[in-house]
Amino acid sequence: MNWAVLVAGGRGTRMALPENKAFVPLRGEPMLALSLRALLDSGAFSGVTVVAAPGECPRAEALIAGCSRADVRILAVEGGADRQASVWNGLCTLPPEAEVVAVHDAARPLVTTAIIEACLASAREFGSGVAAVPLKDTVKQVDAGGAVLRTPPRAGLRAVQTPQAFRVRLLREAHEAALRTGLRATDDAALVEALCGAPVRLVEGDSENIKVTTPEDVDVAEALLTRRNTGASIPVQPFRIGQGYDVHRLVEGRALILCGVRVPHGRGLLGHSDADVAAHALCDAVLGAAGLGDIGRHFPDTDPAYAGADSLLLLAEAVRKAAAAGYAVSNADITIVAQQPKLQAYIPQMADNLARVLGAARPSVNVKATTTEGLGFEGCEMGISAQAVALLVRGSCGRTMCAPTRTTP
Ligand code: MG
Repeated sequence: MNWAVLVAGGRGTRMALPENKAFVPLRGEPMLALSLRALLDSGAFSGVTVVAAPGECPRAEALIAGCSRADVRILAVEGGADRQASVWNGLCTLPPEAEVVAVHDAARPLVTTAIIEACLASAREFGSGVAAVPLKDTVKQVDAGGAVLRTPPRAGLRAVQTPQAFRVRLLREAHEAALRTGLRATDDAALVEALCGAPVRLVEGDSENIKVTTPEDVDVAEALLTRRNTGASIPVQPFRIGQGYDVHRLVEGRALILCGVRVPHGRGLLGHSDADVAAHALCDAVLGAAGLGDIGRHFPDTDPAYAGADSLLLLAEAVRKAAAAGYAVSNADITIVAQQPKLQAYIPQMADNLARVLGAARPSVNVKATTTEGLGFEGCEMGISAQAVALLVRGSCGRTMCAPTRTTP
């Protein structure tokens, strides 16, 4: 029986992300889901153990539920302090029938069935099978000052990837020995090498089986996925534009909140959240530009968590999701359509609020208000509508965003 341990505990430090990179979407789907599906689609495994970062098991389980297959057991377990500890936690979940285990990084979502099969076949025959590729660059060994010490012949060097497959008994023994001796290594092959001296077998990996570690890797991975899914090769888009539109009904007994500003008025907008129609339109523009669907998908109005929610917090979350996809807001333009009240006096504060949440320069955020000269539902003061456009630019995903604050004039 073959089992896979899918390691998804890495922080997004090299991507300058506030979250685990396993949840960074590629073409709208989290990397962890893509990697898990690649393992499942190979048809090679009776079970997969997903090792989530400490505290992230519920999030991983929710994602696993969307990928589940009737014929494959999928478990989730919490990882440890480093990758080695996480793999060990995963190994501890293997059933006694598991003979071969393939350890794979969730950050390699482009793994193919051919690589998986080659690793497993080698592990079955020789005890180990580790995906690796020849180096394209010449490697230099350097001292602490950066001076070259030597140039190892490139022909004898390989860059190792995952999957790394082993007979379960061998990998367990290697991890147990490392626990005893205190050996820490960045891959499982190194532990097996240290254990027995028996050569670890390499199998042919693939240069497309990249480890997605930096924002540039996200670009490459998305381009490769696009080519695989559509056969087309499209360049990474430096700009993305999105549009949003929303309407809320005006009712008695509610506060009127627009772009986070509490506007004095006899009536307010009805909604599950604070019904900030302008923030909602902008939220949709940002999500739309990033190709991430709409506000209803991310913040459903059936979810009690969003009852009375400050919509600027929802907007901040949409901006964070766009950042995780590799895009920052360049500029935004919002039009609020209301017959009453007059909004002109509040517009500077509205723009300040949005700029802070978007992490955009203040002049890049424009808020306008207009009436419909008494026509339509806005003109009859039955409701207020808002339209927004947002332009996203590639990069700057580590940008620091201030916490939104609602202001009352
Ligand atoms: Mg709305």
